[in-house]
Amino acid sequence: MKISVVGTGYVGLVSGTCFAETGVTVTCVDIDKEKINKLNNGIIPIYEPGLEPLVQKNRQKGTLFFTTSIAESIKDAEVVFIAVGTPPDEDGSADLQYVLGVAREIGHYMDHYLVVVNKSTVPVGTGQKVKKVIQEELDKRGVSIPFDVVSNPEFLKEGNAVEDFLRPDRIVIGTENPEAEKIMRRLYKPFILNNHPIIFMDITSAELTKYAANAMLATRISFMNEIAQLCERVGADVNMVRKGIGSDPRIGNKFLYAGVGYGGSCFPKDVKALIKTSKDFDYEFKILKSVEEVNERQKEYIAHKVIQHFNGDLTGKKIALWGLSFKPSTDDMREAPSLTIIKLLKEKGAHISAYDPVAMNECKRKIGNTIEYTNNLYEAVTGADAVVLVTEWNDFRIPDFAKMKQLMRQYVIFDGRNIYEPEEVREAGFVYYGIGRK
Ligand code: NAD
Repeated sequence: MKISVVGTGYVGLVSGTCFAETGVTVTCVDIDKEKINKLNNGIIPIYEPGLEPLVQKNRQKGTLFFTTSIAESIKDAEVVFIAVGTPPDEDGSADLQYVLGVAREIGHYMDHYLVVVNKSTVPVGTGQKVKKVIQEELDKRGVSIPFDVVSNPEFLKEGNAVEDFLRPDRIVIGTENPEAEKIMRRLYKPFILNNHPIIFMDITSAELTKYAANAMLATRISFMNEIAQLCERVGADVNMVRKGIGSDPRIGNKFLYAGVGYGGSCFPKDVKALIKTSKDFDYEFKILKSVEEVNERQKEYIAHKVIQHFNGDLTGKKIALWGLSFKPSTDDMREAPSLTIIKLLKEKGAHISAYDPVAMNECKRKIGNTIEYTNNLYEAVTGADAVVLVTEWNDFRIPDFAKMKQLMRQYVIFDGRNIYEPEEVREAGFVYYGIGRK
């Protein structure tokens, strides 16, 4: 079986590589020539644990190829995945220009039956739009070639993407055609040996499922951040409350962590896009509007704590940041709370020294040398007046407090992820601030 995956980013590269792992011949396509050159030279353009050896193995096996040509990639393919970005447009809706651009090219070059799969996160109705664009191109060419459009949203998590793709909780496929369903079932069979389901449904429901999943997860985070705010006011500890509610199986203990707010390439834009879709269909999605508002406030919250601690003026203060990526195990800086924190602290005159195990290059690409980048967590705190734990990388879990005391100018820890025990930190001689803790 041959397939093409268009868009070789976090989703496309992981999906393509994992399909190649099952023996399918996969050609990954990207318009970014530099990215494709790198991949053809064995260089992986993103940080994703476990991905590099799989890419190398499948390149050597002859099941994984990289090109900039959609035409070449779909020549003998049965399936073409669209896995390009869908960033937010000015009005919050998902910008479909990349998805529809790829659809147009597919229609321009295809010469046999193809299953065209939307793997990008796309709003309700995009399946129909993709179908229309492909048909328009075929009509322009004056040819009649059958094709099906399928929705197959992706649920992988950056940082655990390979594992998530190889052993998914579920696979959601929206299709209206039994032939396409058969092909998709064959393609995904190796991934459901754990008996987790492939859930077939109509295209609209599949498109909405992806947004509903991310909106639900974002809601849990904002909910816990509000509980944390209340905890601080009434003198409760959000970690205790989390444990207390998380052991109820109806609630479950995942995604109940208070912190510096959600970021990343998905939650912020998908929450926005679902609010916009609702509006387009004359519905006001009130909960989600609040989820977004709460998150914006929360992203600023720890910076406000720092500013308040230093009486509103950070001139001459050096603040160390531990962690820059929006979550651990990724170099993704899209919508990372660290960017908001950096901006607010710098506005008050702070000098920022940062350390992140993998995201510093990506951060540099985004904000240049406006902050100081250091080689390790201790170099970051040297001469610092405070340290802010932003991303809970394992590297930061058990720091040597005694060493930090020798290096820092003042002893203050702002724990944006509640990973430290306040008592332990205080006993070590530091002032401790968490989120929603006594
Ligand atoms: P990304 O930005 O990492 O990758 C997208 C790639 O598509 C880029 O390399 C870009 O150069 C390429 N591209 C754009 N236009 C193209 C074209 N015309 N032809 C060929 N390539 C083109 O994005 P991503 O994080 O992989 O996300 C892709 C989609 O998957 C988005 O809709 C996203 O919401 C969704 N998604 C992402 C994640 C995640 O964790 N990143 C998880 C699930 C779903």
